[in-house]
Amino acid sequence: MSSPIWHPFTQHGLEEPIPLIERAEGALLHCADGSTLIDGISSWWVTTHGHCHPRIAAAIAEQAGRLDQLIFAGHTHEPAEEVARGLLGLAPAGLTRVFFSDSGSTSVEVALKMALGYWHRRGEPRHRILVLEHGYHGDTIGAMSVGQRGVFNRRYEPLLFDVGTIPFPAEGREQASLDALDAACQSADKPAAFIAEPLILGAGGMLIYPAWVVTEMAAICRRHGVLWIADEVMTGWGRTGTLFACEQADAAPDLMCVAKGLTGGALPLAATLASEAIFEAYWSDDRADMFYHSSSYTANPIACAAASANLAIWREEDVLGCIASLSQSIATHMGTLSSHPAFENGRQIGAIAALDIKTGDAGYLSDIAPALRSLFLERGLLLRPLGNIVYVMPPYCTTGGQFDRLFEAIKEAGDRFGSR
Ligand code: PLP
Repeated sequence: MSSPIWHPFTQHGLEEPIPLIERAEGALLHCADGSTLIDGISSWWVTTHGHCHPRIAAAIAEQAGRLDQLIFAGHTHEPAEEVARGLLGLAPAGLTRVFFSDSGSTSVEVALKMALGYWHRRGEPRHRILVLEHGYHGDTIGAMSVGQRGVFNRRYEPLLFDVGTIPFPAEGREQASLDALDAACQSADKPAAFIAEPLILGAGGMLIYPAWVVTEMAAICRRHGVLWIADEVMTGWGRTGTLFACEQADAAPDLMCVAKGLTGGALPLAATLASEAIFEAYWSDDRADMFYHSSSYTANPIACAAASANLAIWREEDVLGCIASLSQSIATHMGTLSSHPAFENGRQIGAIAALDIKTGDAGYLSDIAPALRSLFLERGLLLRPLGNIVYVMPPYCTTGGQFDRLFEAIKEAGDRFGSR
């Protein structure tokens, strides 16, 4: 019997093969048919140190036998307390409060609701959110509203709320983007907040922009009293070469969203970090003024134990050193492809690299994408191009030999499918 499962971002009508994975270790996925796949995209940018990291797996096992789930309204537990303290110890200065949820999308929803509620509580209701062109923040209605309109959300467009879109600061157009933000912050319909993925927009096409622009964007928001929300769901946990991308810009946000690698990638957990001013806006002796948001698994103790083990790894092991050498290997391989006529716009930041395959049919729905995916699958690789954009975002334990295989297949993809 065929599987009854409806998979995400999957067109079942195309009947593309769906590998059955039985176990994983490091950067390797073991399939039920005995074959293996190198996970070149960290299973959707989630797995950081490697699959089934022993310290994280042990923490999960230990916690599962101690306290599995707890209502988090009016109750707490030590794994959550540890994660909150640990996060604040590592996060940009000025963030003092941690609100847990369970996915990147919910961490964004929470940040938006906190920001809008903040202005309401201050007696100055504001309803406008500024966003960066090509941004992606998740697939719930609020997260889609602040994301780029297009193929991911076209059907729901009438339901999405209006936002002010700031042009992407592409090379040579950085000042125009900053000027647009400056003007939007001063518009009569005063914005509540500006949300952006710092340094690199992920699902929007792995678009990199410079740290000084993030610094300036944060400064503009501060100058005009607009809250700055950093969505570090993808950029966090070392992907850009520092623990958080904001660090490179010295641009402390008012709200910061983290998820994916928060547990090292082992269990779903997210957090929205907030400044004291935002927390204080909700502080009152009236229950009607509290922040109304929750989900059943908020701060699940087993997920928090995984996150706590992950934070200990970050404190005690040289993860950044490991990322630096990984970035070097990626740079070497990218260098060998830079003169290949089938590729353009090679780019890299930290442990993320991308290039566009030249084709007359660019974009997310490019016909080249399924052909690329099946070539990569045949070569034993999990790579999932964004249309004609091929990218790697590997777990930090990926070996030299595994990189050789990833980049050999990318070159083959250029040879076979790229126009020149
Ligand atoms: N924000 C960013 C920048 C993301 O890249 C993603 C997912 O890729 C999300 C939010 C949504 O995260 P999740 O898929 O965990 O809901």
